[in-house]
Amino acid sequence: MLSWFRRKNTEVISKVDLEIALNTKEQCPCGSRLFYRGPAGGMALNVKCAECGVKYWYAPPFTPCTIDNPDAVYNRKHPLRLSEM
Ligand SMILES: [Zn+2]
Repeated sequence: MLSWFRRKNTEVISKVDLEIALNTKEQCPCGSRLFYRGPAGGMALNVKCAECGVKYWYAPPFTPCTIDNPDAVYNRKHPLRLSEM
């Protein structure tokens, strides 16, 4: 978990790894299962990992991707599991 955190800025995580982690395991590649809920549109949701802070566009069964938007758009008071959103 920590090793991924340390190298997240220098290595690109493959789309397959992202898809397995988020869509199948419902967890961030860092191992965290808790996320902050961000803006939603249609079936898509923006989530921010409560552990490492990486933000994702999440809309299973589509492949998730990392995004970058302001921290202020996330509800950081109540971390949730993806299945609770
Ligand atoms: Zn994370």
